[in-house]
Amino acid sequence: METILFLAHTETDGSLGKSALEALNAAKSLAAVLPGSNLISGLVGGDVQTAANQIAGCASARFLGVVGPDFASSRYSTDIVAVEALARAAAATIVIAPGTARWNRVLAGAAQRLGGRIDTHATGTTAADDQPGITRWYYRQRMEAVVQRTRRPWFILLDPGCGEPWTGAAGQVQVELVSPALTDANRRTTVTGLRAPSADQQTIRPDARLLFVAGAGWTKTQPDGKPHPKEAEQLILGFLAQSKASLGSTKSLVDLSGEGQAVLKFMTHLNQVGQTGSTPRHPKGLSTCCHGEEPHTVGWRFINERRAVNLNPNCSWAQGKADVLYVADAFAVMRKVNALLAEKA
Ligand SMILES: Cc1cc2nc3c(=O)[nH]c(=O)nc-3n(C[C@H](O)[C@H](O)[C@H](O)COP(=O)(O)OP(=O)(O)OC[C@H]3O[C@@H](n4cnc5c(N)ncnc54)[C@H](O)[C@@H]3O)c2cc1C
Repeated sequence: METILFLAHTETDGSLGKSALEALNAAKSLAAVLPGSNLISGLVGGDVQTAANQIAGCASARFLGVVGPDFASSRYSTDIVAVEALARAAAATIVIAPGTARWNRVLAGAAQRLGGRIDTHATGTTAADDQPGITRWYYRQRMEAVVQRTRRPWFILLDPGCGEPWTGAAGQVQVELVSPALTDANRRTTVTGLRAPSADQQTIRPDARLLFVAGAGWTKTQPDGKPHPKEAEQLILGFLAQSKASLGSTKSLVDLSGEGQAVLKFMTHLNQVGQTGSTPRHPKGLSTCCHGEEPHTVGWRFINERRAVNLNPNCSWAQGKADVLYVADAFAVMRKVNALLAEKA
């Protein structure tokens, strides 16, 4: 019999974000298939009433909250105290939480304090023979494993974007306040504010419907005998601004900066998709000026519909890696696409 604690922190507006609702769905599904188990919600934030009301219809047996200005922002020393207090108050045997930046920092420490274990980067929950399990990818997303544990409490951090968010009726719920004791040492770090790039500067957008990949071809000598990095930059940024796509890159393109060549300045190694880069999840992908070699396309594992633009009809995308390959000049294609998007706007 498991007591499953759905653990979430509020967003700055007091609500629960998409990744939290995905974790709630996973926690609820697990509770539904494990006989005798129950679901409890534990919320952390400056004020958690809005968040609790948002998930009123989730059939949680209890709504616990750690609230107050000390818990409004991400801070390891207070977050770990909050998580520990909630897990104890719920007598949780399993804790399911979204893999947000805030929880990724703190949950391993909380598991250690409670004598439990943690698994990160889980993609879903499962049950076999009444035993809970999680699914997780290994070896750069080439193998999927089902992991079970006997040690409790078991903390599970779910990667965002792997499951459907919970949807259900909002309402009015009674939150049971849990008030962990804080010392001055817990408050030693103060959060003085947040500095984040504006939406247009932020090129990695996990929730975007489209992944737009730029390859090294954008900086290579073009048919007129010259490279055109300035126009490449304008075309790519223009497309991102209009489409709100997420920007991916090949290793060759992001490595060029180390070689002192003309590069696209907004591109960093964080954009790199592939074996030694990321494996983003988006419904669609459009690759431009990228050859489509295996170490790159292995990062397209979770891109469902794939298209590529390449001058070379024998590029690797043509070897079964793309649904559609446009054999065309990406400069001309993106110029036209941007003009069409501008007309529609
Ligand atoms: C151990 C290892 C790990 C690696 N990990 C990664 C990784 O994580 N991610 C990754 O990306 N790579 C990785 N690589 C490198 C990978 O093998 C390729 O070298 C890299 O992906 C090539 O990048 P590219 O396609 O941008 O460049 P290129 O191979 O130089 O291809 C450029 C393409 O642009 C096209 N082009 C040029 N101009 C135009 C135009 N005007 N219009 C249309 N097309 C045009 C050309 O036809 C060409 O196909 C790894 C390699 C190794 C050995």
